[in-house]
Amino acid sequence: MLITLTGAEEAPRLRAWLTRHGFEAKPVQRGQALLLADPWVPWEVRDALAADPAVACIDEVTEGPRRVLRHGPAEHHPTWDLGAVPVVAGPCAVEDPGTIREVAAYAASLGIGWLRGGTDKTRTRVDAFQGHGARAARWLHEAAQAHGMRSITEVTDGPEAEAIAEAVDVVMVGARHMHASRHLQRIGRFGKPVILKRGLAASPEEWLRAAEYLLEAGAPTVAFCERGSRSAHPLKRFTLDVGAVPFIREVAAFPVLVDPSHAAGYGPYVAPLARAAIAAGAHGVIVECHPDPACAKSDALQALDLPALARLVGEVTRIQAALAIPEAPEHRPFLPGPGATDKAGA
Ligand code: PEP
Ligand code: MN
Repeated sequence: MLITLTGAEEAPRLRAWLTRHGFEAKPVQRGQALLLADPWVPWEVRDALAADPAVACIDEVTEGPRRVLRHGPAEHHPTWDLGAVPVVAGPCAVEDPGTIREVAAYAASLGIGWLRGGTDKTRTRVDAFQGHGARAARWLHEAAQAHGMRSITEVTDGPEAEAIAEAVDVVMVGARHMHASRHLQRIGRFGKPVILKRGLAASPEEWLRAAEYLLEAGAPTVAFCERGSRSAHPLKRFTLDVGAVPFIREVAAFPVLVDPSHAAGYGPYVAPLARAAIAAGAHGVIVECHPDPACAKSDALQALDLPALARLVGEVTRIQAALAIPEAPEHRPFLPGPGATDKAGA
């Protein structure tokens, strides 16, 4: 953010005020302007600055991610219509046409409008099931279409990436690829909506900037998906960062989803994390399920069976309806402006 001042003599006062509120501003243009390096600045700070007579104008477009950030309460917030049920569901991997059709029919009967399924699986073990590739993407899409659902699969850097992206409605960037900027550009060029998983140890800023790569390359819209970070906990696969949910809602102009399945790594923990995610304001959850979890070819331990999926859908739908979390955080200035007497910093 570039804050142009009416005179260089005003810079020290405004800079001191910003420092007191945790923002480092660098004087530029011979002190006529202050450059704020932080890629996101809360509205109340921005508004307090804008109201100061010493501020001539504020330019939002320097430095930080430009497309991804929500710049103010009036900004249009592109929505992803998840429908009445805030759940994306499906197996970890599309294993065969029959199983994905069975899952699609069951999910559709619960009112779920989005069907996931992995087709090119990047596994930790090279001898583990790697997915059926582009033909699985076509099975997934056909199963989704039969029930008017949207199909979602991860697109990796594998040889069938193009054919896989072509086959589905929505492409996903997996956690292991979030940092690969050239991959993000390639995905963006497919021109499809993208679900961007958060990297296994990615900072919020890296995550936001990854989304910027997608949008810059041509993705029409993105949704963020928190899926848990590396953890020292011996019993959990990853640690779900629930705090990322209100943060993304606050700063980004795009929805935030949560994947409780990969965070939990274990079926019985999935619903509690899904409930927490929705209560924290997630627009939806992405949940792995399988008609016979014990036989799933990947992530069997965390897959919900179909009745458990139904219970989860009921719970999160009720929580989301009961809380009715406003789309944008309420605009409530709470900071005294730089011109006001500020005893704490005086
Ligand atoms: C997945 O959703 O199938 C997946 C592999 O997730 P992640 O990239 O978050 O590990
Ligand atoms: Mn999985």
